[in-house]
Amino acid sequence: MSNAPCDKCEELLQDYLDRQLSAPEMAEAELHLDACEYCRRRYRFESNLRMYVRTSAAERMPPGLMQKLSELRSLGAP
Ligand SMILES: [Zn+2]
Repeated sequence: MSNAPCDKCEELLQDYLDRQLSAPEMAEAELHLDACEYCRRRYRFESNLRMYVRTSAAERMPPGLMQKLSELRSLGAP
């Protein structure tokens, strides 16, 4: 179909990246990534971003920012 962004998989992707999906949801996300180019690109971008943040952040992030991020993270996750 088109490359239009889909809101539903936006959510799915976030959870997928955070590994917060159940096994069937995980499979659904992977299926969707196979089929949807928009999400595939987005997933690649997000996972690169996360990897970069994780590796560089751990070393040179000021303690205050680190805390801020973990607060933000806990807001997003129940
Ligand atoms: Zn999609």
